[in-house]
Amino acid sequence: MKQDYYEILGVSKNATAAEIKKAYRKMALKYHPDKNPDDKKAEEMFKKAAEAYEVLSDPDKKARYDQFGHAAFEGAGGFGGGGMNMEDIFSQFGDIFGSAFGSGFGGGFGGFSGGQRRVKGSNLRIRVSLTLEEIAKGVEKKIKVKRKVQTPGVSYKTCPTCNGAGQVMRVTNTILGRMQTATTCTTCGGAGQIIDKRPDGTDPQGLKANEETVSIKIPAGVEEGMQLKVGGKGNEAPGNGVPGDLLVVIEEKEHATLKREGNNLHYDLYVSISDAVLGTSKEIDTVSGKVRIKLESGIQSGKILRLRNKGIPSLNSYGTGDLLVHVNVWTPKNLTKEQKEFFERMQEDENFTPNPEKGDKSFFEKVKDMFS
Ligand SMILES: [Zn+2]
Repeated sequence: MKQDYYEILGVSKNATAAEIKKAYRKMALKYHPDKNPDDKKAEEMFKKAAEAYEVLSDPDKKARYDQFGHAAFEGAGGFGGGGMNMEDIFSQFGDIFGSAFGSGFGGGFGGFSGGQRRVKGSNLRIRVSLTLEEIAKGVEKKIKVKRKVQTPGVSYKTCPTCNGAGQVMRVTNTILGRMQTATTCTTCGGAGQIIDKRPDGTDPQGLKANEETVSIKIPAGVEEGMQLKVGGKGNEAPGNGVPGDLLVVIEEKEHATLKREGNNLHYDLYVSISDAVLGTSKEIDTVSGKVRIKLESGIQSGKILRLRNKGIPSLNSYGTGDLLVHVNVWTPKNLTKEQKEFFERMQEDENFTPNPEKGDKSFFEKVKDMFS
């Protein structure tokens, strides 16, 4: 059971914004990691207070918390998992303590991030265009990617600014008194090392662009605009850094006859008056090849035939969408004399007079059904 946010900050549920801020300020000062080095309990309290303040200081989040409690933040984007990290907490500080604390806290914070930082290479972003058939089945794509990689012959030396620590200590005067804070070394970006020698043709980081073929497994059910991450296939970083990621943005190619709507597909089928009257069978496209469907005699224009599980599989759960076949009766415009005479004779005929049965729902009823 998570502790109540109001309880953590020691304020009542009716506390004003100013009271909440004051209470948090007091706790942040008391449990600040610089005042309690290597004190896990203080660190825990510090984090708890920050999390409580993060919610209670935001009118929107506070309202949700007041109504639903901790359940309001479970799942997406909540604190459900590991709580806030130190960087999040320090990013709040500008608001609470003013700029006196500065950016020093942001990067590496002494006891928490543990000295040297592994520099991460930049991410690469590519677009991959897929057909509906590929999306329905899932596909493996081999894509050429130009990424920066480390080259042999680059040598490193210890960063003279931080002597390899990756951080420099800075003494600042703050409202807490004189504080020593660790900031990421700007010379080496936290890596502790800088380049000594690099071969010709490499960039200042000792990297060289290289074209590589990357194989990307794309799961069935992806959608236009989705972004997949292939870890470690972005640009490499110098030294002992870790490579960035390759971000794959999905594009959906337009299909000649099928339209996608969520995981369902729509197909417009045109049939002649004779086919509608007499009944027939028609071949239609699906994402897994053509299928033949039967049309009963007397089928009405506007009827929707549902082919179960012939749509797109759902990406994250079980189940597959359907293929909805919309029947449109094609009315001819050009008739021979005989044909015209035939239809003229039928104009007053009882069998040709519309007489919708219960099963023949109107367009509006069908739309209503689809959305309910
Ligand atoms: Zn350095």
